[in-house]
Amino acid sequence: MAREGQIKVQSEKIFPIIKKWLYSDKDIFLRELVSNASDAIKKLERLNAIGEADTGEEKGRIEIQIDPEAKTLSVSDNGIGMTEDEVEKYITQIAFSGAEDFIEKYKDKTDAEAGIIGHFGLGFYSAFMVSDSVEIDTLSYQPGAKPVHWVSDGSDTYEIGEGARECHGTTITLHIGEDSKEFLEEFRLREMLHKYCHFMPYEIYFYPKKKDLSQKEEKSGEESKTEEKPVNNTQPLWLKKPKDCTKEEYESFYREVFMDFNPPLFWIHLNVDYPFNLKGILYFPQQSNKLQVMPGEIKLYNNQVYIADNIKEVVPEYLMLLKGVIDCPDLPLNVSRSFLQNDGDVQKISRHITKKVSDKLHSVFEEDRASFEGYWEDIAPFIKFGCIKDEKFYDRVKDIVLFKTLNHDYRTLEEYRKENEGQIFYVTDENVQAQYIRLFQENGMNAVLLTHAIDSHFISFLEYKESGLKFARIDSDLSDSMKTDGEKPDEEAVKALCEQFKAAVGKEDLDVQAENLKSKETPAIILVSEYERRLNDMSAMYGGMFPAGAQAKTTLVLNAQNDIVQKITSLPEEQKPLVCKYVYDLAMLSNQRLSADELSEFMKRSSELLKLAVFSQRAE
Ligand code: ADP
Ligand code: MG
Repeated sequence: MAREGQIKVQSEKIFPIIKKWLYSDKDIFLRELVSNASDAIKKLERLNAIGEADTGEEKGRIEIQIDPEAKTLSVSDNGIGMTEDEVEKYITQIAFSGAEDFIEKYKDKTDAEAGIIGHFGLGFYSAFMVSDSVEIDTLSYQPGAKPVHWVSDGSDTYEIGEGARECHGTTITLHIGEDSKEFLEEFRLREMLHKYCHFMPYEIYFYPKKKDLSQKEEKSGEESKTEEKPVNNTQPLWLKKPKDCTKEEYESFYREVFMDFNPPLFWIHLNVDYPFNLKGILYFPQQSNKLQVMPGEIKLYNNQVYIADNIKEVVPEYLMLLKGVIDCPDLPLNVSRSFLQNDGDVQKISRHITKKVSDKLHSVFEEDRASFEGYWEDIAPFIKFGCIKDEKFYDRVKDIVLFKTLNHDYRTLEEYRKENEGQIFYVTDENVQAQYIRLFQENGMNAVLLTHAIDSHFISFLEYKESGLKFARIDSDLSDSMKTDGEKPDEEAVKALCEQFKAAVGKEDLDVQAENLKSKETPAIILVSEYERRLNDMSAMYGGMFPAGAQAKTTLVLNAQNDIVQKITSLPEEQKPLVCKYVYDLAMLSNQRLSADELSEFMKRSSELLKLAVFSQRAE
């Protein structure tokens, strides 16, 4: 006879609340039920192993079935099962009190935090997120146990009584609610099984069409049994010993998990027994887009049960640019952020992973520098981001950070500084800064290419860490080696010339200087203050932190060695402004800084000059 019971919770509204809060991760119920099934099988295996149970050699097996007509979804296992007392204890009392704690703790939280709450899961009771009612049919493995049937419609009452199950194990049947019909669709279920159950340790079979349970073993016949394929891979590669894994295996596992058909650059197989348990594989992906960093994906598992992606408390944020799987049985299945933040093990795990990653980078660098250089453009954003985020990581990898030079070879910071004295000039765009690059190369000077969005942060970070280190963009300063030692131009003459330029260009605040440049052909160049430009870049990036729109100070450097510049003062008065402006235009053009209006003015001046040239020829 079925007996009714009262669920002991203060609020009868517990289920509507659960439904609302867990909404964002509704499909997590499947993981919870399948992992309970998996736990039940494991418990029975242990009991068999120590002689406490004797249920034979039968393989652990989980079956998932949907019946769109009856609107049911069931999860069935051949595990340990439950007696009536156990159902009372584990389902009615304990689990409910867990749910109650949850409600207590989070009742004041807003919907905005639903995402976090989604990571809790609620074990068995998450089934009510998608169901009008839930049934349990279970038979304990214990000899002479009676089958039990339990049903609850998600209010505060339930019914418990004798069931009909014949073999040990448990079947949970969900009567799917009207607003959750998606969970009766084969495609949706397959997708969820792939996400949550892909590496579960016991075989999972999916029956999208109702399978007649009475036909089970006897009548299905041998052939159809051999055809059956589990939907999961019970032996993921991370369980294998690293020394037994081949390159092909690592690469095909990568494809299987991440659906990324560009092979990874290299990988790290994590395998720790002490002081905590951890297994996993981290891959360094190729970056298909060299300018933008593609987010990676670190999947976290607990004994092959998927927990979540990209939990930054376990895996440092910058490692999320990698792709990988981490299986850590010491983590609870229902990860809550606050738990992870305060857990010492979690911090140890995070440190361990960081160390392994830097060790691997070092070994590639030391054992095969050419390959390391080949990988550099792909791994650089990750390494630089890591350095900025984690000083310990920086200390570990700073000696292997590479800089690509104008000659397109790679140098470590130390190597580069041995070859090049003073500040380190850098190029952010080879096209835009082509004129400066030419000037540098004419003078036998080198610079490094820092073209990635993260580089501006990275060089500021390096300057802060390494005293005496200074970076300057190639258009921000003149190096002494670009000047000749020739006699200084006459001070008075220079002053007059500078005034001439200021007046001609019509910019009172224009800073004009004259230098003896080795490259005689260059009449003048523009220099842009490194410091002010960086401030501007930052305010453009963060908007509002600094006064926006301000122009970085620019300086016009006239080349006293250039014959046009030398000639200016002796030109007829009316020609001076035109030539001065033109020299200025050319310098600005090399810096690619003419606005549309300025450019059309420049065109006008060009034709004027052309006219002059043409007419002076005729006069000769
Ligand atoms: P947890 O799995 O964290 O203990 P759950 O709410 O998921 O919490 O499950 C509560 C309890 O119900 C489990 O600890 C287990 O004792 C029992 N249980 C749930 N599902 C099964 C099952 N399929 N077979 C046997 N026992 C189960
Ligand atoms: Mg559970």
